[in-house]
Amino acid sequence: MTDRVLIAGAGPVGLTMALELSRYGVPVRVIDKIAGPSDTSRAVAIWPRTLELFDRSGVTTDLIAVGNRVVAANIFSGKSQIGQIRLNDIVSPFPFALMTPQYETEGVLRRHLKLRDVEPQFSTELTEIQQDLDGVTATMRAADGTETTERFDWLVACDGSHSVVRHRLGLEFQGDTLGLDWTQGDFHLTGMPIPSSELAIFLHPEGALVFFPMAPDRYRIITSLGRSTAVEPVPLDLEAFQKVIDRRGPGGVTLTGTVWTSAFRINERQVGAYRSGRVFLAGDAAHVHSPAGGQGMNTGMQDAINLAWKLALVSRGISTAPELLESYDAERRPTGAEVIRESGKLTKAATIESHALQDVRNVVAHWVLGLPAAQHAVAGLITELAIAYPKSILNGPSGGDRAGSRVSPVAGEPPYGATDTPRFGLHGCGEGAKSLLSQFPTLLEHQLRAPQAVGQLTLVRPDGYLAASVPEGDWREIAAYLALFAAPA
Ligand SMILES: Cc1cc2nc3c(=O)[nH]c(=O)nc-3n(C[C@H](O)[C@H](O)[C@H](O)COP(=O)(O)OP(=O)(O)OC[C@H]3O[C@@H](n4cnc5c(N)ncnc54)[C@H](O)[C@@H]3O)c2cc1C
Repeated sequence: MTDRVLIAGAGPVGLTMALELSRYGVPVRVIDKIAGPSDTSRAVAIWPRTLELFDRSGVTTDLIAVGNRVVAANIFSGKSQIGQIRLNDIVSPFPFALMTPQYETEGVLRRHLKLRDVEPQFSTELTEIQQDLDGVTATMRAADGTETTERFDWLVACDGSHSVVRHRLGLEFQGDTLGLDWTQGDFHLTGMPIPSSELAIFLHPEGALVFFPMAPDRYRIITSLGRSTAVEPVPLDLEAFQKVIDRRGPGGVTLTGTVWTSAFRINERQVGAYRSGRVFLAGDAAHVHSPAGGQGMNTGMQDAINLAWKLALVSRGISTAPELLESYDAERRPTGAEVIRESGKLTKAATIESHALQDVRNVVAHWVLGLPAAQHAVAGLITELAIAYPKSILNGPSGGDRAGSRVSPVAGEPPYGATDTPRFGLHGCGEGAKSLLSQFPTLLEHQLRAPQAVGQLTLVRPDGYLAASVPEGDWREIAAYLALFAAPA
């Protein structure tokens, strides 16, 4: 069989896309212009919603084996603690964030891909694309300059923030570059007074300092350098970082070695459309924002997970409903915009320059984070468990339930969407439910799941969001909903 989907970029988002499509039986080709796997640390946080979704492919177990679990985020002003956000109170099989360098995360994804006989083709750059109603013609250049042109059904651009595909499509990357410089690095250290299972944010009058624990003696440390100068920001070396930590940090911390450093300016940008015909954009190709909340990679991976089951249903001819592919942009672009907005607010709050306003911020943060409802809301945002699609065109009848919201995985039950083709899970019992299973054998899991509420039928999408929920007697409403997706026999 020929490769139906070309994935440009073997970063975390391209690898996620490839893994999801291949486990759903769609032949893929993944290319990357670099010569081999990247070895830079970059994004360190993997949040609970991403862990829930990777549990469907078995990736989560392997990530947990290489990552450091973080169960709380502490916020300090000087030496006094003004708040704590607890992750171990959230309702999820994975009530923690995992801290692991991006090259480890990519390594786990590549190993899972290899189990499915897919390996990224490195030293292969996508240079040109042309699309028509039936497919995409891609021109690819090898390291020796040789060019080949091949035809694919679909193209998914996971080619990062400088996306060639985005440029070729003429799509604008709207937004701004913020006017502050930042530096970050992975360091070995001693003397950290906060447990390595907790993240620490220091809001110092001179600027923010954040410690992400990757291991008891290894931390990702990020700090602001102040207003941008005309030149590119330069990473601090160990001695300079130590001085900043001594001034802004908890005291007693000694850096003992440098693993990796970088400097950056925050870009807040998003493309105006995540789809153009047979081409989709995902990850940094579609949105970039402040790394402050550690959301970039997670949001990108969830773009891929959102798109993959829909593209698999269409690509395999199981569904011809245009709404499926239309819903990718409709669901993920507002989500990306919200992540940009919220991580931007966090960054602005952490970098207020006026000392008077800093005092106000600290008082407000202390008060707000003391409220359970606010705690819950902030935890929902950073863990990405609050992501929902309340206005999705894929939402079916749901009575008082909230179609488009996340359905919390239940321990002991198989994750939604863990099947070899994307199937909806159906919770319920009775003759109506059984009739649905026999009417929609390609769209529904083969076994009914336990009812979520007495007398209720609940339909859950392969990516774990509520599709529809009706009283048992109204099972024909679910039949009508599924019939929209079923391809004509
Ligand atoms: C220095 C740095 C530090 C970062 N720190 C953090 C952090 O602390 N926290 C955080 O959450 N995020 C951080 N990020 C962002 C995070 O790394 C990205 O959000 C994440 O990598 C996005 O994944 P992606 O797969 O969309 O894109 P990328 O990881 O950028 O992958 C894109 C891939 O596409 C390939 N490619 C590009 N053009 C082509 C082409 N024409 N043909 C073929 N292949 C192509 C590239 O070689 C690359 O491998 C950081 C990024 C950088 C650069």
